[in-house]
Amino acid sequence: MSDVLDPKHEALVDHLFQRACFVLKMPGFVLRPLRRRSRGRGKLRMLRLGYTKLSEKQITVDLYTPRTMKPRQLDAILRVVCHELTHHLEPPKIWHRWFGRDIRVIHHPDFWKKYKSGVELLKRDEVLSEHFTS
Ligand SMILES: [Zn+2]
Repeated sequence: MSDVLDPKHEALVDHLFQRACFVLKMPGFVLRPLRRRSRGRGKLRMLRLGYTKLSEKQITVDLYTPRTMKPRQLDAILRVVCHELTHHLEPPKIWHRWFGRDIRVIHHPDFWKKYKSGVELLKRDEVLSEHFTS
C-alpha cells in the first residue's frame, strides 16, 4: 500500500539526508521513508519515529506525523536521521554489574555525546542550517 503523501516533501528530505551523510562523513547510507498501513490510528507509544538495523546501511524514518499525516518538520527529521546514524557510530554497550545480570545499553552516555556533536555539525552546515529552527 502506497503511503506517499507528499512527493515534494520526500524528495527534499532525501536531498537533505544525502547532505547530512556527507557532513557526518558517513557515505553509503540509504533513507527509507516509513510506510504505514494505517495512519491516524493506533496507540501513540507504539509509533516510533525511526529505526535502523546495524547490519544494514539503511535508516527508516517517519516523514509524517503519525496522527495528522502532515509532513513532519525538517529539523525534527534531521534529528532523527542523526540519531539513527549515531547508532552506527556508537553501537550498544554491555554494562557489567556486580550483582544481577549484565545489561545491554543502547542509548549510553557516549551515544548521546556523539549524537549532540552530530547535530551541531548539521546545524553549522550551510545547506542544512536554514532548516533548523533552534
Ligand atoms: Zn536510538
